[in-house]
Amino acid sequence: MTYGSEQVNSLPPYLFSIFQQKKKALQQQGIDVIDLGIGAPDLPTPSFIIQRLTEEAHKPENHKYSPYGGCLEFRQAVADFYHKHYNVRLDPETEVLTLIGSKEGIAHMISAVINPGDGVLIPDPGYPVYESAVHLAYGRGIPLPLDEKKGYAPAFHAVSRPDLERSKLMLLNYPSNPTGATVELDTFDEAVAFAKNHHFCVAHDAAYDLVTFADYQAPSILQVPGAKDVAVEFGSLSKSFNMTGWRIGYVVGNAELIRALSTVKSNMDTSQFLPIQKAGATALNSDFSCVTANNAIYQKRMETMHAAVEEMGMKAEKPRGTFFLWAKVPDGYSSQAFAEKMLDEAGVILTPGTAFGKRGEGYVRISLSVPSNRLNEAADRMKQLKSGGAP
Ligand SMILES: *Cc1c(COP(=O)(O)O)cnc(C)c1O
Repeated sequence: MTYGSEQVNSLPPYLFSIFQQKKKALQQQGIDVIDLGIGAPDLPTPSFIIQRLTEEAHKPENHKYSPYGGCLEFRQAVADFYHKHYNVRLDPETEVLTLIGSKEGIAHMISAVINPGDGVLIPDPGYPVYESAVHLAYGRGIPLPLDEKKGYAPAFHAVSRPDLERSKLMLLNYPSNPTGATVELDTFDEAVAFAKNHHFCVAHDAAYDLVTFADYQAPSILQVPGAKDVAVEFGSLSKSFNMTGWRIGYVVGNAELIRALSTVKSNMDTSQFLPIQKAGATALNSDFSCVTANNAIYQKRMETMHAAVEEMGMKAEKPRGTFFLWAKVPDGYSSQAFAEKMLDEAGVILTPGTAFGKRGEGYVRISLSVPSNRLNEAADRMKQLKSGGAP
């Protein structure tokens, strides 16, 4: 007899915790562990955003409940951002909703859309929250294979007909966690057409939309003509403005999907603290020079780590976005065995690709969100290990 529900007790095990336990044990022995398993920025929130938060926090009218769907200033800022950045027009009242972080919105969207037993196509490899959220909503997670040979574009036609028939929702994520894969608009064209043909909807997770390098600009799925018929897109200030702890994000697109999500949410929460929403609006209304500066830091770190990985004889594509490097493990190792070796022998935590699905086998995810001196130290340790052969 346990208190947790069947859904809770049967959640897939959280792979990260094993490494965190080992990290603690090693640190207790006095070993200096560098954690490149972290999926959140190490850099601080820009001060102009904090400034707005503190100003608004002093105003008593901001201490009351927010409107359920979020305050209009934030929703308008999201709509203006979409117009300026993607040339997509959105109605802030019906096509934009404030979220308490995009993770919250993605999980609640799944329960707002599916009936028990419905299928949800989930990118493999992909962000583990998708699978857990589908499971908690009594859905059935169906892997959507990402084609390694095509830069991890979705292999739409690899999904079987019965699986397509039972599916109600498809999740996508570009720039991608964990692979760092990016796409051009034609991938979203295909996704929208595919969803329309098979009568399901699409939720695109754009958590890394602004974390991009050099000339690359990540497209929005809403730039596809007619995308609003079937698609929503989730955005977050967490990664682009270093605001993970603030819990502020949004969803945009199809008004009916947004209404369904809003119904779930209005019975669970009362949106985010108003000063946080207003500070979020200030971030989205800014000139994004802080984002560009961050991206330059990530790109430099990426070059450092990419060089180290190549020197170790491992292969990795240089990503055009995110703060992850997705590297193939040396021959003779599983993802898990290689990650364990790196922790035991170099004191460096990497995330085994299998934490992100079956198709992550053979890879590790290397996070670049640690201070540059620590990243350089990790790269040096990894290079020194290169002589070690396979077990
Ligand atoms: C970090 C992350 C999120 C969650 O972001 P929040 O807005 O902080 O909840 C969603 N999707 C992916 C792929 C992420 O890496």
